[in-house]
Amino acid sequence: MNPPKAALKLWSADNRIVLAEQDRFLARDIQRLSGTNLNRCYHCRSCGNACPFIRGMDYPPNAIIRLVQYGLRRQALESHTIWICVGCHTCSVQCPMGIDIAAIMATLRRLALEEGAMIAETNILDFHREVLHSIKQYGRAHKLGIMLRYKARVHQWFADLDVGLRMLAKRKMDLKASRVQAIDEITRLFIPHWKR
Ligand code: SF4
Ligand code: SF4
Repeated sequence: MNPPKAALKLWSADNRIVLAEQDRFLARDIQRLSGTNLNRCYHCRSCGNACPFIRGMDYPPNAIIRLVQYGLRRQALESHTIWICVGCHTCSVQCPMGIDIAAIMATLRRLALEEGAMIAETNILDFHREVLHSIKQYGRAHKLGIMLRYKARVHQWFADLDVGLRMLAKRKMDLKASRVQAIDEITRLFIPHWKR
């Protein structure tokens, strides 16, 4: 993969985009890694209109695709949007071109981590890590364990406490974690393929 080449300046005085330094291979790389053809996007914005998390995003989903098409690697990898996206696929269902936008976001998150980009939403990354930890340990997400570990990590013990107590009262969270029977098969997923 080619090294990141961020644009030095985005907009000129007459409001035209200036690509002083562009990663010409970004769209090609993202397409290969995500398995979806983002160049089919014609920017109808149906994805953004359907997205339940659009208000928390700094760029709507199609603008992320545009950044990738323009080769603006740093702007895409350091965006809040790629971390706000929960991969619900609501946008893909609406997309007339069948573009897997969630896969593009997941690929950008992966590259952001691999390349040491500035993570715009560190709390969300912490939460992802705790979910993966739980799946690796039990083969499933133990919600109470995830929340306790996450809160210890971010030092926010009392945020959303009322929600947690209501979930416990309604038995939406198990106190005790249970492990799936075939835990070995799950654990193998966490071992890099060249070490298996
Ligand atoms: S719905 Fe599909 S084609 Fe329309 S802007 Fe979004 S990704 Fe592009
Ligand atoms: S997959 Fe991401 S971008 Fe698409 S609708 Fe869900 S949260 Fe929004």
